[in-house]
Amino acid sequence: MIQIQHLHKSYRTNNITRKVLAGVNFQLEKGDLVALMGQSGAGKSTLLNIIGILDNYDEGDYYLNGVHVKNLSTQQASTYRSQLIGFIFQRFHLIPFKTALENVALPLYYQGVEGQERRKRALAMLDRVGLATHAHHKPNALSGGQQQRVAIARALVTAPPLILADEPTGALDSSTSHEIMALLKEMNREGNTILIVTHSSQVARQCNSIQEIVDGKIVQ
Ligand code: ADP
Repeated sequence: MIQIQHLHKSYRTNNITRKVLAGVNFQLEKGDLVALMGQSGAGKSTLLNIIGILDNYDEGDYYLNGVHVKNLSTQQASTYRSQLIGFIFQRFHLIPFKTALENVALPLYYQGVEGQERRKRALAMLDRVGLATHAHHKPNALSGGQQQRVAIARALVTAPPLILADEPTGALDSSTSHEIMALLKEMNREGNTILIVTHSSQVARQCNSIQEIVDGKIVQ
């Protein structure tokens, strides 16, 4: 699914260059559930943004589902991103004035799926995450855990080959975190490939493997 070789990325500010990724090698197979850890500032978000085709890299190779991700135009990057990746964020990033159903249906709209089919698929996905009864609620009428369930449904509704989760339990209490991890593990058992960036060793322990960024490189 993901093959990354010798990936380098530096940031340049005020004529000072700071190397963040210094030859990252990273593989993710179809069906994996992997935790990516590392100290604050280690480069986790930088790597996740590159994997999510939200940012470019300087040197090396990155293949996602057979596509060589390098110097894509904004349009190409956005097309691949919407076809290949579902995102889950720490703070859910739901649209506040849309209902749970409309939030989940939105990625299908961008893929040109027709209205009735969108609603049908979005409702089936909300049912999968246990929220069919809350389809017409707006995010502010939902708890944090419920909002994250809606966000998971939104990430999965287009059946993307890869799910990227950036601190998905970082804004939740420990019992809700546990529920969200149980849901992600269930989605993984059903065949979804999931990469989770986390600070929490409790979350990481529930993944099938843990990879850590140290000094700009991955150690297992
Ligand atoms: P992590 O997610 O592991 O906390 P980041 O990938 O956010 O780490 O950041 C790694 C390093 O790169 C940090 O020192 C950060 O200050 C720097 N950095 C991140 N993004 C930028 C940017 N857009 N411009 C300059 N420096 C950046």
